[in-house]
Amino acid sequence: NASRLLGKTVMITGASSGIGAATAVLFAKAGTNILLLARREDALNSVQQACVDAHKASGLKEGGTFAHVQLDISDRAAVAALWSKVPSSFRDIDILVNNAGYVIGRDQVGDIDESIVDGMFATNVLGLIAMTQLVLRDFKKKQSGHIINIGSIASREAYVGGSIYCATKYAVNAFTVSMMKELVNTPIRVTEIQPGMVETEFSLVRFNGDAKAAKDVYTGLQPLTGEDIAEEIVWAASRPPHVNIADMLIYPVNQA
Ligand code: NDP
Repeated sequence: NASRLLGKTVMITGASSGIGAATAVLFAKAGTNILLLARREDALNSVQQACVDAHKASGLKEGGTFAHVQLDISDRAAVAALWSKVPSSFRDIDILVNNAGYVIGRDQVGDIDESIVDGMFATNVLGLIAMTQLVLRDFKKKQSGHIINIGSIASREAYVGGSIYCATKYAVNAFTVSMMKELVNTPIRVTEIQPGMVETEFSLVRFNGDAKAAKDVYTGLQPLTGEDIAEEIVWAASRPPHVNIADMLIYPVNQA
């Protein structure tokens, strides 16, 4: 029941495109307030406008305030200083969607540059952990909150050419499961969403802007859309408070 989301405040990392942007728009339609985070300010501006439009179209009175802050989650100091840049009405978060993440290339282990390894871990793992710690202290104080981590099929199944990305997503899974167990007997909820192939900017980033290579990975299948995943995220967030959706694995019908 989406009415459980009315007036809640959601913070989304990687909100400038793909799954994060679609999730923001869907939460906006459900009457929430949203703090959008990513590195690209222009893209954040457009998503924020899309949230304003979606909320307006919903006709809901609750929620409908939106803000964005430019943030590189791999920058520890920037994460630590985040609250100083956030308007005060967005500092009391109810739901954190840890969505920012990426992969670069599909090289085998011996051929991967050290900086690519460091970069993926810094964002997909360390950034996600830092963002979680940032809100968890407050969630514990107020005894409520929901952390939704975006893992991947790659959190459960490793593949050739995906060693580093899969290692980061396995780490996200281990971190999420540990935290969920630690928080048993508290009202704080923890969810991991594990998408299969979703057509977003993810593939363009993976192939350094090579549009053909980015498109070719979807040959023979109909990929999921950012909206498909957004629906599952918003659904998980809108369950009754005693229900914790631990994880959701979502495949396109024709992905093996
Ligand atoms: P996109 O490339 O469209 O979105 C990734 C988002 O992450 C962007 O908003 C980007 O914004 C942000 N981001 C990347 N690095 C950082 C950083 N250091 N600090 C802050 N924001 C950052 O791809 P998706 O929407 O597909 O990806 C979202 C999540 O879904 C990722 O965690 C990905 O691993 C996961 N996933 C994706 C799948 C797919 O097939 N697409 C499958 C399974 C999981 P900006 O560049 O503005 O910072």
